[in-house]
Amino acid sequence: MTELAPYAVSERNSRLRRIPEAPPNSRSEFQRDRDRIIHSTAFRRLEYKTQVFVNHEGDLFRTRLTHSLEVAQIGRSIAHNLKLNENLVEAIALAHDLGHTPFGHAGQDALNACMEEYGGFEHNLQSLRVVDLLEECYAEFDGLNLCFETREGILKHCSPLRAPALGDVGERFLQGRRPSLEAQIANLADEIAYNNHDVDDGLRSGLITLEQLSEISIFARHMDKVRSLYPALAGRRLVYETVRRMINTLVTDLLDRSRENIAAVAPDSLDAVRAAPALAGFSPEIQREQQELKQFLRTHLYQHYRVARMTSKAQRIIRELFRGFLENPRLLPPQYQEKAGSGKPRAISDYIAGMTDRYAIREHRRLFAVEET
Ligand code: MG
Repeated sequence: MTELAPYAVSERNSRLRRIPEAPPNSRSEFQRDRDRIIHSTAFRRLEYKTQVFVNHEGDLFRTRLTHSLEVAQIGRSIAHNLKLNENLVEAIALAHDLGHTPFGHAGQDALNACMEEYGGFEHNLQSLRVVDLLEECYAEFDGLNLCFETREGILKHCSPLRAPALGDVGERFLQGRRPSLEAQIANLADEIAYNNHDVDDGLRSGLITLEQLSEISIFARHMDKVRSLYPALAGRRLVYETVRRMINTLVTDLLDRSRENIAAVAPDSLDAVRAAPALAGFSPEIQREQQELKQFLRTHLYQHYRVARMTSKAQRIIRELFRGFLENPRLLPPQYQEKAGSGKPRAISDYIAGMTDRYAIREHRRLFAVEET
């Protein structure tokens, strides 16, 4: 491993685990965190959870699992270049979506609406809940007992109202402090990954077209470049060559800008990073272009009528499942009835949030279709 910057998270400055454990003997603490995440049930469920398209719509679209792997890949290479802790970035990236409901953002919005009177539902907080509480693997504790810095990275935002209940990982939201650079990088790698793969999936699905995207500056200038190099190139290869250049531009810009910010503040420790303004970021020009792309995706992909139809079905499934269980908790699988100690609505929310797309569809059918049991 390359030498870490003095402000990187390391085992020396880590606040480690809530329940102390003997140090690992064949890997680092953050490799251990990553490995625990990979072996978790919630991680395997990501394979069948939607990013934008519902899982059964096609085998080639991103799922939350492949999305998380892309975030980890992008995050690792940025971390490596900035001499940050790659294993920590990887662990955060692989865990960042563990709390996502089925059916992507539609599912999260629906569950949040159902939980309105009971403290709400937020997928970041749920990811933390998964690793702190819900995973059942170990004899001596609930959850995965991950290091503080991994948990801090998973909780990328949180309202000041909710922060006090979260203990150590909530503190920074009350004190106006930043998380580690590793957490900042994982968060931006997420943004790079989804903007680009949504372009790719959007094109593959036929919901958006190359003609439309040629109006969007970051896409247009990279596609023009590819076309000038390879005038005969078309179809998948043209898209791939364009998207890979966009990712490369974003990563390079992020590295340049973050290096400048770091040089200006010259943090000499992890604490100095936490006290400084956010040090990882894009240049204003790239940020503008990213905004334009995001706006395009929102209007033409996320709000496309075919996506909207799926969204509305998904929300109905979540709503009806929630109401059904709330009215009659005896319909819940026994292990969730027992967990109702944390409050019935929260136990129901945990159960629904854990479902994959197809499991939610099946469970809905089992509950409401007369011919199913
Ligand atoms: Mg994500």
